[in-house]
Amino acid sequence: MIKNFRAVILGAPGSGKGTISSRIVRKFEMKHISSGDILRLNIEQKTPLGLDAQKYMKQGNLVPDEVMIGLIIGEIEKCKTGSWLLDGFPRTKKQAETLYSKAPVDTALNLIVPFDIIVDRIQKRWVHLPSGRVYNTDFNAPKVAGLDDVTGERLVQREDDTPAAVMKRLDVYSKTLGPVIEFYKSKGILEEFSGKASDEIWPMVYKYLSSHIAPISQDVKI
Ligand code: ATP
Ligand code: MG
Repeated sequence: MIKNFRAVILGAPGSGKGTISSRIVRKFEMKHISSGDILRLNIEQKTPLGLDAQKYMKQGNLVPDEVMIGLIIGEIEKCKTGSWLLDGFPRTKKQAETLYSKAPVDTALNLIVPFDIIVDRIQKRWVHLPSGRVYNTDFNAPKVAGLDDVTGERLVQREDDTPAAVMKRLDVYSKTLGPVIEFYKSKGILEEFSGKASDEIWPMVYKYLSSHIAPISQDVKI
């Protein structure tokens, strides 16, 4: 068992990184650091970084490496001790290399989901911005339509979940993620999980992680 376990979760937009990540941090003592959630909070709070990033995100483009690296390395430095799970970062080879030089990761989880399923799923997605909780009106609807189950606050659809922005994000993903995958493969730490639904992928991720990091409680149902 590794004491301070460091993982990154990779996958196309809408592949379920957020959903799988929230399940992971419920079962394992790891801090969830989501680049997309941090950016969206900055946009909501209208910080200079948020206003700058919004221009790229709205179009489905990547936020420049310099901005992202500064932001995420800053977050990681706040958790010098303890386990973490990075979601949405790295997205480019430069980001992967910089991260590895600051904090070698123990595993890279790659979620593989067919693109046609992703496109359909994103159209039905609603999010709670402050927590990053994700709902889907088909298979994971909130208890009350439009409201977060935990806080009762309003859910929104993401600005970059429009069909045009989704196509652009999938295109950017196809062009940029290959070298990131190769990077982790060359380090011998890439773990791939394929499936059509998060419920299908989750048991495999849980089983894999359980052999590296102790679950919070063995009795908790997965
Ligand atoms: P999903 O949340 O559906 O898995 P996603 O992976 O595209 O989709 P986020 O990770 O939330 O979504 O990111 C949303 C947007 O934020 C990206 O399209 C990009 O513009 C920006 N972004 C997030 N992380 C990074 C990063 N590491 N590098 C560059 N841009 C990023
Ligand atoms: Mg996400």
